[in-house]
Amino acid sequence: VVPLLDVLAPPACAACRSPLAAAGPVLCPDCTRALPWLRRPCPFCALPSHRAGACPAQRAAFARAWAPLAYAGPARRLVQGLKFGARLPLADAMAAQVTAGLPPDLRTGTIVPVPPQPGRRRRRGFDSAELLAAALARRTGLPLWTGLRREDAERRHTRGGIAARRRRTPALVVEGEPPPLVLLVDDVHTTGATLEACARALRTNGSRRVLAITYARTL
Ligand SMILES: [Zn+2]
Ligand SMILES: [Zn+2]
Repeated sequence: VVPLLDVLAPPACAACRSPLAAAGPVLCPDCTRALPWLRRPCPFCALPSHRAGACPAQRAAFARAWAPLAYAGPARRLVQGLKFGARLPLADAMAAQVTAGLPPDLRTGTIVPVPPQPGRRRRRGFDSAELLAAALARRTGLPLWTGLRREDAERRHTRGGIAARRRRTPALVVEGEPPPLVLLVDDVHTTGATLEACARALRTNGSRRVLAITYARTL
């Protein structure tokens, strides 16, 4: 019996849309092979390489950052699919890629998702960092804590661009007592500014140590 959904929408690769032989995996074999794994990234900023003394995380509030993949190729398309597609199977596939090479020191602690901007979550009804964090918690068996919230007003900076976004510091609210050892989870590590703001808020409110896990690192 062929499931009705497969007749309507045959399973396709989440990155290149080529048809898949069977439902289950989200990537075709070619895209799976093309995943841009990061080998030996810097333990502090997760970049694969930078000049000595030029680590962008030198004075970061998070003690360490790690990502399994570069934000490129099929990894980038999975992130985009998760953002705009509300797809739980994608979140689980990404969590599987994270746990596959998760360093031992990032296998203890409490998973805390980077909170979405309130307006953004309301519009989409879901949030990719939350989906990824929940999938990671399921796969690792680690507890999930969702007391970190972002309360900045919903404002789009279409004209100010990146400069305006950098100037804005998100108002983060910590509800209750945050866990002592935090594994902060986001989909993409770009400048590190969001991770920094979250780590600072958690530590100000009692967390002893914050370690950042993202699915992909912008190079
Ligand atoms: Zn593909
Ligand atoms: Zn570094």
